[in-house]
Amino acid sequence: MKKIAIYGKGGIGKSTTTSNISAALSEKGYKVMQIGCDPKSDSTKTLMHGRKIPTVLDQMKEKGENIELEDLVFEASNGVLCVEAGGPTPGIGCAGRGIITAFEKLEDLGAYEKFKPDIVFYDVLGDVVCGGFAMPIRGGYADKVFIVTSGEMMAMYAASNIVSAINNFGKRGYAKYGGLILNSRNVENEVGLVSKLAEETNGSIISILPRDGIVQQAEDQNRTVIESFPKADMANCYRELAEQVINRL
Ligand code: ADP
Ligand code: SF4
Ligand code: MG
Repeated sequence: MKKIAIYGKGGIGKSTTTSNISAALSEKGYKVMQIGCDPKSDSTKTLMHGRKIPTVLDQMKEKGENIELEDLVFEASNGVLCVEAGGPTPGIGCAGRGIITAFEKLEDLGAYEKFKPDIVFYDVLGDVVCGGFAMPIRGGYADKVFIVTSGEMMAMYAASNIVSAINNFGKRGYAKYGGLILNSRNVENEVGLVSKLAEETNGSIISILPRDGIVQQAEDQNRTVIESFPKADMANCYRELAEQVINRL
């Protein structure tokens, strides 16, 4: 089992990209689990065809000791196992702590032994790389970290912070930096800017995804591009990215 964290600024396209990678790998026969670690809890929405699944934190509150794996893990029609960690009540509690609690609950209940995923994706918000949100990088959870960025300043700033967090913990043998996924926003000299970031962080751009209206069209249908438009160029871009990710494990 390989565990991969996908980080990036909010709104940059982490969930869309991760869900399409999951769908592409599922298509190739891999057993994939996708764990949304963003308090927004919408990571797996297109995989689940629009259904917002209950979060681990909410289910823990509701079911207490009687909680079972079936309350937390939901299988999408393409076979991807979907989990949403959930978030705190606004203004109260720590989002990072919530992620840790959710991970621990999945482990306690034997989620990995039961479902035996080949690949686990953590889809993590990277705006604040505090101790809490760095948990998938620290605690031995992720093996590799990929960062979604565009050439926009704030996205690159977040990416650079995430690499710093990886480097801080990397010395202790935790997660390794896998590279950047450039999700184009068509800003001027975008490839140049992100290439420079890759160089500065001792990494590389593993894939360049174009900005394509078909992504929104698929989202409007509550589907991944892979499912809604399997023959589209964009679907092939996601398939190639999925292959790049696998090659780096
Ligand atoms: P995040 O998970 O990082 O917060 P999302 O995956 O929810 O971001 O994406 C935010 C929005 O950007 C979504 O509406 C999605 O459809 C759109 N989007 C993401 N990637 C692309 C792309 N390559 N081309 C066009 N739209 C995209
Ligand atoms: Fe928020 Fe991070 Fe602090 Fe937790 S550790 S309260 S997620 S800033
Ligand atoms: Mg998201």
